[in-house]
Amino acid sequence: MPVTITLPDGSHRQVEPGTPVLAIASGISPRLADAALAAWVDDKMVDLTYPLTADARVRIVTNKSPEALELYRHSTAHLLAAAVTNLFPSTQCGVGPPTDEGFFYDFVVERPFVPEDLAAIEAKMKDLAASDYIFERQLWPRDEALAFFAQRGEPLKVQLIEEKTAGQSHVSVYTIKDRETFVDFCVGPHVPATGKLKAFKLTTTSNAYWKGDAKGQPMQRVYGTAFFTQKELDEHLTRLEEAKKRDHRKVGRELGLFTFHPFAPGAGFWMGKGTTLYNTLADYMRGRLFPAGYDEVKTPIVFNKALWEQSGHWSHYRENMFLVKSADGEEMGLKAMNCPGHYLLFSAEKHSYREMPIRFHEQTPLHRNEASGVLGGLTRVRQFSQDDAHCFVMESQIASEVEALLRLIQGIYGDFGLEYTAKLSTRPEKFIGEIATWDHAEQSLKQALDKAGQAYTINAGDGAFYGPKIDFDITDAIGRKWQCGTIQLDYVAPERFDLTYVGADNAEHRPVVIHRAIFGSFERFIAILIEHFAGAFPLWLAPVQATVLPIADRHLDYARQVQARLAAAGVRVLVDDRQEKVNLKIRDAQLQKVPYMLVIGDREAADGAVAVRSRSKGDLGARPLDQFLTDALAEIASKQVS
Ligand SMILES: [Zn+2]
Ligand SMILES: [Zn+2]
Repeated sequence: MPVTITLPDGSHRQVEPGTPVLAIASGISPRLADAALAAWVDDKMVDLTYPLTADARVRIVTNKSPEALELYRHSTAHLLAAAVTNLFPSTQCGVGPPTDEGFFYDFVVERPFVPEDLAAIEAKMKDLAASDYIFERQLWPRDEALAFFAQRGEPLKVQLIEEKTAGQSHVSVYTIKDRETFVDFCVGPHVPATGKLKAFKLTTTSNAYWKGDAKGQPMQRVYGTAFFTQKELDEHLTRLEEAKKRDHRKVGRELGLFTFHPFAPGAGFWMGKGTTLYNTLADYMRGRLFPAGYDEVKTPIVFNKALWEQSGHWSHYRENMFLVKSADGEEMGLKAMNCPGHYLLFSAEKHSYREMPIRFHEQTPLHRNEASGVLGGLTRVRQFSQDDAHCFVMESQIASEVEALLRLIQGIYGDFGLEYTAKLSTRPEKFIGEIATWDHAEQSLKQALDKAGQAYTINAGDGAFYGPKIDFDITDAIGRKWQCGTIQLDYVAPERFDLTYVGADNAEHRPVVIHRAIFGSFERFIAILIEHFAGAFPLWLAPVQATVLPIADRHLDYARQVQARLAAAGVRVLVDDRQEKVNLKIRDAQLQKVPYMLVIGDREAADGAVAVRSRSKGDLGARPLDQFLTDALAEIASKQVS
């Protein structure tokens, strides 16, 4: 009896039972067969040798398929293990999963690998790839597999087989060429042969433990990355180099912006320049939001647990919160978000439909109890502030409010010269409320996106349980994506907090809450900006906008006059009054990424001028101080991104 195969275009093929999926690809075109890496058979990804034994849907996976890179990197991790065990036969293999950035593999080694080892291992991987060995799947009786790995001195593999295949009669292993060359316990699937693996690179090693348990077997982790083409791999490696140079922890230290101390893990200490940058962003946001109809508010930082019980955080989020007890034993929690405080504030007054929408914006600090192991720099912190706001709207106002928000976001990201994409997340499987309400909400969001001319993709089913949302991903200067802004509709909180307004009909109605943030947290956004600009902020953001560099001590008086004149006009300016050569002062100001250096000598002092040097354009020549000031103020006002 032939089996019936359904292809993605809906067409059918009949094949003999036992036909491998590769034959389906060949039947479509030799080109597809050549490009094929694996296949989906119904909901399972399988090797190309997988025999079709029953009616099924089949889709061939090529390097164009979104899931292919993971498969490819997983297969490369095996190639790494094969190279390692060939070169260092006493090595024991652990596990080797793909990651977002590539893959790794953990080994028990006699001595740690050194860089020359990595070079040799990579060369061996290239050999094995060039030989185009087949990744062959074999089913071994479970006892036999256990005995084989035990006899080979691989207790970790024995443990994995025992844990993962309890009750199975057979286990799946893969060989490269033959058992002697390489064999590993794995459920697969893999690319058909090592020759498919064309572009990979081992990057680094680190210490690791079996199953990540610090009390477990110490291991060594080898990291690598892999791409379908050498070009993509090269671009990735360049990006990694560039990311290292731009790392905000490094740049933040060099520019003297912030520091950390073990006595306050995950909470930044902002130095003068860092605080200036922080406040520039905070004031910028205020300047944007006030004209957009927002009230800036301040609500408490510590709340009685009764609030967290009402908001639901006590049962679902408590482990992420800092809990405190007052002297008389009252149980309290530091706020991890502003929403509940804003609901109480909304309820403190009676509201009429004529006031809606009502918008609260707040920048006070929030605390979240992130595990100390994941803290690092400004992207994972325990204390932070958001540019968070809550808009209380009537259902009929959702579309217009979201449209206004989208335009606000377009303007704000535009001021930083940031590219971004938007995605709309719709009703998830688990949701609260009526389908009709959800449909209306999703329709309103789509309408707003269209009216604001905002391109977007749809993430079906990825909304929050309380309402649909729009998320924004910023793309930075080296192509990395960072999720920053969000607009989330919430139908649940107004119920929980019994929020009401009086409608035109004089009856009480429920508002809808829109949670929204544009920067996200100031801390994380600053990290992104530092890495995006590599510390060379545009003039309007730079903590120090100009440094006055007197050539000799006799120019100090005039240098101070220049500083006073600029500072009075609002320019952030310092004088480098050290008794150093001006070339050294220029070099230091350049390293500090100061946008303008104003060199002062005899002629400038006599003419009321400054010799202007730009961080990016070099020497711009001398000009009257007033002209420099006018130009600088215009550049600041235009928020020009150079
Ligand atoms: Zn595998
Ligand atoms: Zn909120």
